[in-house]
Amino acid sequence: MEKQKIKLIVTIDTEADNQWHEGDLSLNNIKHLPRFQALCEKYGMKPTYLLSHEVAASNLVDDLKDWQDKNLAEIGAHLHPWTTPPYEENHDYKIHSYPHELDDNQLLIKLKNLTDIISQKFNKLPVSFRAGRWGFDERVAKHLKSLGYKVDCSVTPKINWQKTIGDPQKNGGPDFRFHSVYPHTFEGITEIPMTILFTGIFKKENTRLAKLFLSLPESFIKKVLNKLFFRQRWLRIFDSSSAKDWKLIYKSAVKNNLPVMEFMIHSSELMVGGSPYSKTEQQLENIYTQLEEMFKYFKSKNTKNCFLKDLIR
Ligand SMILES: [Zn+2]
Repeated sequence: MEKQKIKLIVTIDTEADNQWHEGDLSLNNIKHLPRFQALCEKYGMKPTYLLSHEVAASNLVDDLKDWQDKNLAEIGAHLHPWTTPPYEENHDYKIHSYPHELDDNQLLIKLKNLTDIISQKFNKLPVSFRAGRWGFDERVAKHLKSLGYKVDCSVTPKINWQKTIGDPQKNGGPDFRFHSVYPHTFEGITEIPMTILFTGIFKKENTRLAKLFLSLPESFIKKVLNKLFFRQRWLRIFDSSSAKDWKLIYKSAVKNNLPVMEFMIHSSELMVGGSPYSKTEQQLENIYTQLEEMFKYFKSKNTKNCFLKDLIR
C-alpha cells in the first residue's frame, strides 16, 4: 500500500514591523510579501496568512485579497491583544498580554473586532486562528468556536512559556510541554500544533524517556541531554538553521507517523530591519535561501501542501 503523503502547512504571522512597539505601528513589511508569495507559488506551497488587526485594518491588503480570491492563499486571524481594539482606558502599550490572560469580555470583544475587520476586508469569515505569543487555552478555544473558527494553530508542543511574562499581574504563558504533536480536536475545533520534534537519537514521541526529559526544569542538565540525545527542533528558520535541519525534521515526522508538518514565519522577518532575525540584507537573503532549500526539499519528498482550512476535521 502506498504510504500516506505528509501534509505541509505554511503559516505566516502577518503583523506590524516591530511587534514589540510602544505605540507607533509601521507596516512596511506587508509591501514585501509578494516576494514570499511568489516563492510559495513557485514550489506549489499554500500559505495561510494569519492577520493581526493592524494589518487587516490597513490599506495594504489588496495583494492578500487577490491571492485569497485566486485560491493561492488563505487568510486567517492572529490576535495581538495590545494592537486590537477596544483598549482599556489606561492601556499600556508596553504590556503585551497573552490572549488567554484577557477576561471573558475583553477576549470576546477583541476577537470579534479582529474577525469583523477581516470578514469586511476579505468578504469571507476567517476560520483559522493563531494566538499572539501562543497565548492559547480551553477558554480561547471556546470563544473561537462561538465566532465560527474551525482551526487553531497556537500550540507549541514541548515548550513551557510560564517564565515568559505577558501581563505582569498574571502567571506567564501556557505550558505546552506535554501537548500532543499530532492534529486533534480540542474544545470542538481542530488543533494543528506547530511542528516541534525530537531529531536526535531519541526521536520517538510519547515515550517514558521523552516525558521524563520534558518534565525536567530548564537547566544546564536539560540543555546537555537535549544536545546529546533529543535535539528538539522547530520547523522554523533561525540564523543557525541549515539544509540538514529539514531532513532531520522530516525523518522524525516519518518515524513518528506525523500526518502534518507546520512551518511558521513572521511577515516582519521578510523585510530588512523588520525583525531581530532580519537586521541586515545578508540575514534576509539567508532567510530566502533557507526557505527555497526547505521548499525544494519538501517538494522532493512529495509533501501534500495544504491550507489550514483544508485540515478541518
Ligand atoms: Zn504575532
